[in-house]
Amino acid sequence: MPFSFKITRQDRRTKARLGIITTSHGSFQTPAFIPVATAASVRALDFQDLKNLGAEAVLANTYHLHLRPGEKIIKKFGGLHKFMGWDGPIVTDSGGFQVFSLGFGVEHNIGKMGWFPNEGERAGKDSDFPQNKNNQKPEISSEEKFAHIGHEGVSFIDPMTGKKVLLTPLLSMQIQSDLGADIIFAFDECTSPLHDESYTKDSLERTHRWAKGSLKHYNKKQALFGIVQGGLFKNLREESARFIGSLPFAGFGIGGPLGGSKKDMENILDWTIPLLPADKPAHMLGIGAVEDLFNCVEKGADMFDCAAPTKWARRGHVYISPKERGNKKNKFRINIDNAEFREDKNPIDRSCSCFTCKNHSRAYLHHLFRAKEISFFRLASMHNLQFILKLVEKIREGIKQGKFQSIKEYWIGD
Ligand SMILES: [Zn+2]
Repeated sequence: MPFSFKITRQDRRTKARLGIITTSHGSFQTPAFIPVATAASVRALDFQDLKNLGAEAVLANTYHLHLRPGEKIIKKFGGLHKFMGWDGPIVTDSGGFQVFSLGFGVEHNIGKMGWFPNEGERAGKDSDFPQNKNNQKPEISSEEKFAHIGHEGVSFIDPMTGKKVLLTPLLSMQIQSDLGADIIFAFDECTSPLHDESYTKDSLERTHRWAKGSLKHYNKKQALFGIVQGGLFKNLREESARFIGSLPFAGFGIGGPLGGSKKDMENILDWTIPLLPADKPAHMLGIGAVEDLFNCVEKGADMFDCAAPTKWARRGHVYISPKERGNKKNKFRINIDNAEFREDKNPIDRSCSCFTCKNHSRAYLHHLFRAKEISFFRLASMHNLQFILKLVEKIREGIKQGKFQSIKEYWIGD
């Protein structure tokens, strides 16, 4: 398997570490932030933009690509790299999270399972889920509307065709094999913060069984990562980390709800990461907020993916560094729609070196957003992604120079 993870430096005082992951499509440094290319595209950006911003790998969503255009078409092009024109490392998720979001998430109006309330991951609707060509959902009765979780897998109604699909470890591995990403994820059930211990325990039994099924069926040329679940429960998280950590995965994802506070997330990392093999990378699924990046790196996490930077950008929320002083609630971003920016000649962030900040004022961006100009999406997405990618670069530099904690203090300290 053309995959390796080499730890190049270990921070003395924390679990933070530097590393390099090598795949047959090149390597990337860790800690790594991996932008989300949901439907084989990072919305509003092209791949030259991504390379200019410093992205070294991308993550595409199996569920979306299975529905449209379908993995068989992508396979005919020789896989995702060729189909989407990205020659660097690609990661795909298992499809489980999206299917599950369609079920419990839709039912309970939860957009993301592991949100931190202050990060507002639940904000608004952004057509994340594919609809058919008439932009209408097929007629689906309310009973069929949500995903159903069973012994074998999760069944759901394909929103494009209205047909029932049973997503199993075997199907997830077949789809991910056809997509041909370098790093793939085992099929799991992502529980919600609203699930109790008894449900989470039953769910964990499924996730563990499906982990073994994924190992059995995956294409051995790809690097398969297992996923630790267990919700907010210490005993279940530990059980999951021990079990998943004992299986021959190339790396590990930590998924599911991570609690509603910084402390909850830290606890979950403290319960799980020490039980996973230290020589394999740990990936935080769906995490990418500033504070979370620092806290997770400090606890030993190596990889992150999150759609939030570009999602926020499209809604007019652009990231700022501590120097720019956001409000207390949203310390790291401003809403460009606010009237206070109408005549603001400053860039979004004076310390940002991105194309947008080098060339445009807040006033111009405010105008583009209000005028609904398409260029706004690109300019704001470039800024937000570069902001996070540079932040992770600073974190890496900090670990290298033994200054991780002082950099964290500068960003997070009140
Ligand atoms: Zn910028």
